[in-house]
Amino acid sequence: QVSDTLAKEGPSSPSYDWFQTDSLVTIVIYTKQKDINLDSVIVDHQDDSFRAETIIKDYSYIIHMGLSHEIQEDFSVRVVENVGKIEIVLKKKEDTSWKRLGHPLENHNLLIPKKDTGLYYRKCRLISKEGVTHDTKLFCLMLPPSTHLQVPVGQHVYLKLTITGTEIVKPYTPVSDFLLSEFKEPVLLNNKYIYLLIKIYPAGLFTPELDHLHIGDFVSISNPEGNFKISQFRELEDLFLLAAGTGFTPMVKILNYALTNIPGLRKVKLMFFNKTEDDIIWRSQLEKLAFKDKRFDVEFVLSAPTSEWNGKRGYISPALLSQFLKRSLDNSRVLICICGPTPFTEQGIRLLHDLNFSKDEIHSFTA
Ligand code: FAD
Ligand code: NAD
Repeated sequence: QVSDTLAKEGPSSPSYDWFQTDSLVTIVIYTKQKDINLDSVIVDHQDDSFRAETIIKDYSYIIHMGLSHEIQEDFSVRVVENVGKIEIVLKKKEDTSWKRLGHPLENHNLLIPKKDTGLYYRKCRLISKEGVTHDTKLFCLMLPPSTHLQVPVGQHVYLKLTITGTEIVKPYTPVSDFLLSEFKEPVLLNNKYIYLLIKIYPAGLFTPELDHLHIGDFVSISNPEGNFKISQFRELEDLFLLAAGTGFTPMVKILNYALTNIPGLRKVKLMFFNKTEDDIIWRSQLEKLAFKDKRFDVEFVLSAPTSEWNGKRGYISPALLSQFLKRSLDNSRVLICICGPTPFTEQGIRLLHDLNFSKDEIHSFTA
């Protein structure tokens, strides 16, 4: 009876405790969950408020306090996975004994549905901006030292800028630099950098402003969101990625994760739809990867090619998909990820259903 109620109302609430030494304050969150990792907790210390949001399924457990004493800028976060314990170690500014941790702020010590938490932002510095195609750039943003945040595979963040006095917010999907770093493990650099591949639309509202930022300027970045789950990769054998234009962005981390972390994976195929050859993001990197890793294939399809283009042409179609989506074995476990302009994604999903792929075998990235 009791467990029935809990199942309906969500996970049982975590709790927290704290202790101190002369120089450190450790906050311990007991999540009562086993599948907790460093992606599950987002910690910020800004404007005198300390906030730690722990994601537990579709819920957030929030520690939110005005600390009783000052702390240094950086802190460390550890997760003891097998017991679901999170430890946040803060460095005191002065070696005094704290009588209390602080005073509670909004939502402190509550477990609330994630959708009700609102977007929480921190200011990130623009570190670099490099052209990738004629209209797409790779932006590198640095998180402040007083933030711990890792964007999980398949999730996006919101960027916020104030444009002529109004706050404008748009979603973007971080990529990893694994396609750029000669396919070695990228240097982790404490997960302080967020890379974004962004197409600049000259008549757009947000992207021209973003493009006008100078190195060293700030952009606000939200907590990650999105409904892709790593568990969708469980026992996966064939992974098909259908991307159009910047709909390629979620595929970057997915590709990296799949090729490194799915033991039984036999085949990963990317069908990448663009208007022209000049629009293809990271073409030579993708071709090199296909050459190096026999499990990976890439096919480019152009909707407005020049007459010299010898490859595939047109929009997403039954003929293209039925030829592309061949299982490596008759009954192999497949996942198809699709992302691009809305008409592309909607048409793709219809065609996949027509080809008898089930809902569980399709993941679409939408707004
Ligand atoms: P907008 O002002 O939205 O305009 C976009 C284009 O449409 C312009 O060419 C504009 O001229 C035209 N337009 C605008 N209004 C009209 C109209 N009424 N009629 C006809 N044309 C019009 N983008 C990326 O580049 N990289 C990413 O990683 C990325 N991730 C995303 C993740 C998610 C979950 C979603 C939903 C979107 C993502 N996007 C991504 C798209 C991004 O959020 C923005 O939509 C995009 O950057 C355009 O923003 P903008 O304000 O510059 O352009
Ligand atoms: P684009 O205009 O360059 O088009 C790329 C390709 O999409 C075309 O070559 C064509 O094959 C296909 N396409 C375009 N319109 C189509 C239509 N009406 N029917 C069928 N196919 C069509 O694309 P872009 O400017 O790079 O736009 C990328 C889109 O992806 C944006 O709308 C963006 O919001 C979306 N996106 C979504 C996410 C997400 O997670 N939801 C992430 C990244 C990008």
